Formats: sequence, structure tokens, C-alpha cells
Amino acid sequence: MSRKFALAGAVALALTLTLTPLAAGTASAAVEQEAAVTTVYYSTASAPTFRSVINAGAANWNRSVTNVRLVERNSGASLRYTEGNDPRGSYAQTNGHGSGTIFIDYTQARQYNPTRIAAHETGHALGLPDHYSGPCSELMSGGGPGPSCTNAVPNSAERSRVNQLWANGLAAATSAEQRVYGF
Ligand SMILES: [Zn+2]
Repeated sequence: MSRKFALAGAVALALTLTLTPLAAGTASAAVEQEAAVTTVYYSTASAPTFRSVINAGAANWNRSVTNVRLVERNSGASLRYTEGNDPRGSYAQTNGHGSGTIFIDYTQARQYNPTRIAAHETGHALGLPDHYSGPCSELMSGGGPGPSCTNAVPNSAERSRVNQLWANGLAAATSAEQRVYGF
């Protein structure tokens, strides 16, 4: 009997939490949508060598943007990091909205700053394209500025663009196809 009441209580609580924003009216609903943060879960289970640099790159993004948050969780992750040897180098295969696979190449990670590689590829998963002609201060210039570039933090334009892309949460993601981007 107590279990039944506990369940009923949980349902009532869930309904209360769900209905409260609607009761608050359209003005505050718009504010809540603006403030909504989408969480992207990522797995490092298949990239154990680079776990610390992947997490450092994710932390750089989390400090830089407000509408999306990257959280490491190996079960049920939509974004998976992998590692190995590939003559094409590192790449991201992603829909640009938090789903896909990021591959980090061993050889490239010895030549270039591995945190920059991880943060750059993560930028693709957050919706940014490559811009190899950009300066080192631009994360999505990737390998363009050469191996001496160690910047792993997005610039202000990149931060703004990601916040803009994630302003409406996951809704914009549903029709996006997967594409492959390099470093
Ligand atoms: Zn790239």
C-alpha cells in the first residue's frame, strides 16, 4: 500500500513540475527557452589514451558556451570518441548536433597539440565547420596554422555561433545528416 502511495506521489510531483512553467505564461516560457541548456553525453571508453585531453577540450567548451553542456558518461552517450591509426588523420563524423563519432589519430596527436585536436573535433559535433585559413586563435582552423599552434579554446565568434546553434536545444538536430570533417 505504501508503495502505491509513493508512486502516486511521484506522479503528482512530476505533473506539478511539468505544469508549472505552462501556468507561468508565455513571457516566462520564452525566457526559460532562452536559458535552456542541452546536455550532450560523450563516451571516452574507446579512446582511453586521450581521455584527459578529451575532457580538457570538453571543459574548454563548457567554460565558453552556455546553451550546451558536454558531460562524460560512457553508457548511452550520443557522442563517442575513438582512437587509432588512420592516414587521413583525426576526424569527426557528426550531425553537428551532439551525435556521432570522433576519431583521434595517434600520429597526428604526436605532431599537433592533442587537446587542440580533441577540442577542434568536438567543435564539429557542436555544429562548427572547418576554417583552415583562420589564425591559431580560431579553434576551427585546426591544423591550418601548423603544429606550433597549441590553442584549444574557441574564440568569441566560435562561442557565439555555438550558442546560437544550440539556442533551441535539440529541436534543430532532428533532420541533420552526418558529415565527416577533418583536423
Ligand atoms: Zn575539422
